[in-house]
Amino acid sequence: MSMTAGDGTAYRNYINGEWVAAADGRTGENYDPANGELIGHFPRSGQADVDRAAAAARTAFESWRKTPAPKRGEVLYRVGRLLEERKEDIARTLTREMGKVLVEARGDVQEAIDMAYYMAGEGRRLFGSIVPSELPNKAAYGVRDPLGVVACITPWNFPVAIPSWKTMAALIAGNTVILKPATDTPHSAVKYVEVFADAGLPAGVLNLVMGSGSEVGMPLVRHPDVAAISFTGSNEVGREVNVEAARELKRVTLELGGKNAIIVLDDADLDLAVDGILWSAFGTTGQRCTACSRLIVQRGARGELERRLLERIEKLRLGHGLAETTDVGPLINASQLERVHSYMSVAQREGVRILCGGEPAREGDLARGNFYRPTLFAGVKAGMRVEQEEIFGPVLAMIEVESLEEAIAVNNGTKFGLSSSIFTSNINAAQTAMRDLATGIVYVNAGTIGAEIQLPFGGTRGTGNGHREAGLGALEFFTEWKAIYVDYSGKLQRAQIDA
Ligand code: NAP
Ligand code: MG
Repeated sequence: MSMTAGDGTAYRNYINGEWVAAADGRTGENYDPANGELIGHFPRSGQADVDRAAAAARTAFESWRKTPAPKRGEVLYRVGRLLEERKEDIARTLTREMGKVLVEARGDVQEAIDMAYYMAGEGRRLFGSIVPSELPNKAAYGVRDPLGVVACITPWNFPVAIPSWKTMAALIAGNTVILKPATDTPHSAVKYVEVFADAGLPAGVLNLVMGSGSEVGMPLVRHPDVAAISFTGSNEVGREVNVEAARELKRVTLELGGKNAIIVLDDADLDLAVDGILWSAFGTTGQRCTACSRLIVQRGARGELERRLLERIEKLRLGHGLAETTDVGPLINASQLERVHSYMSVAQREGVRILCGGEPAREGDLARGNFYRPTLFAGVKAGMRVEQEEIFGPVLAMIEVESLEEAIAVNNGTKFGLSSSIFTSNINAAQTAMRDLATGIVYVNAGTIGAEIQLPFGGTRGTGNGHREAGLGALEFFTEWKAIYVDYSGKLQRAQIDA
């Protein structure tokens, strides 16, 4: 592997094919959320660095857009192979700075590998449309053009997977890219971009600028050379990005929050449901946009499900994500821990019973990190704040309902619409749920997490602005259509509307 990231623990931006410090030399520290150990010093970039990256990306666009798409794909094939070779190293880096357990960190990298091969293949397709003209001796077809320079602004919870979804789709379509990773997970982004550098991506095609949302994120959104913004993060920031980009009529895709539910009907296989609930609610310490934070259970199954869940939650082991015994890692930072904990007083005010958890975990080594006990709420009613607001932690709210219809209404009754799931052995109930659950992703007899990259990913209502990532939908966002007419009749033929 090339030594590209600067020496020691001082990492650098990647602009125009070179690893460079922030223009004014500022850096910020990043720490392991499980024990507070220093990971390294990362650039705190600003407008000058954004300008530099935008200039590089704009210049590189002219040749990258003309590089045949199958050749662009060949770079992505090499990226996929290098990611496979470095999977363990990148996964360990990711666990250390983000906190998720190692098996999940490997999954995060695996998504990037899958996306690399998938998008590499698109280099030989990038389907357009060929349609007949209404006139003789005239050809008509539609082709996809890249947009230009696109900014990808990503959160900390999938530090490799989410950048890969955005950047690989953008690149195969012929765009050039500036990636701004979350301040909490820059090291994973450095490892990710190193792979592209080593795979031979031309200078300026993919640039990495680290720094805060206000000093790098917003300047990217406003930059005149940035044509489009692909954003994943919170609703508040997503809204701001959209408003700002609208001033210059820029294209924006937003993947925002969720308040995802699992429905368990009386006839469900409870063993299966318990496994699905635990994995979806407490995997990644509840910090997935698709995490299950609501359990909507039909009355007949409630008592038994609650008993089994409590038994299993008690056994979840907290610890460093690199330790093999760990089931649940830390929260990303102290302010997230505060935020999660603040919902305990909200729950108490709303008359909710806290069946387990409800506090930070402080015994032994856990005191050095941002650990929170897996928490189960009971007696939650539709409309309560703990039922409506994204908490983004290991907190599950149980809501009892009478019927399938009520369950679906409760599921659909939030401002989000990302993922949902139903456990049932009744085909009619399952089919009704698939039709009526108003989310972008629906699972039957599986939890709310585990999206595959060849399908559209995204949500309805407040989860986004109607675009989808991954699958073919990604190319819709990162290209625009050009209609081409070729008249080979040798005379001026007027179209039917003008004739
Ligand atoms: P966030 O605070 O909105 O940050 C997301 C990204 O935006 C970060 O890179 C952040 O930089 C940047 N940013 C912050 N303020 C900005 C501004 N004013 N202008 C431009 N960029 C700005 O979200 P987060 O706390 O990192 O992530 C958690 C949220 O993401 C949750 O709500 C979760 O549901 C959502 N999420 C959604 C999906 C999905 O696909 N639907 C996937 C994962 C996560 P800094 O890091 O420097 O603040
Ligand atoms: Mg943030």
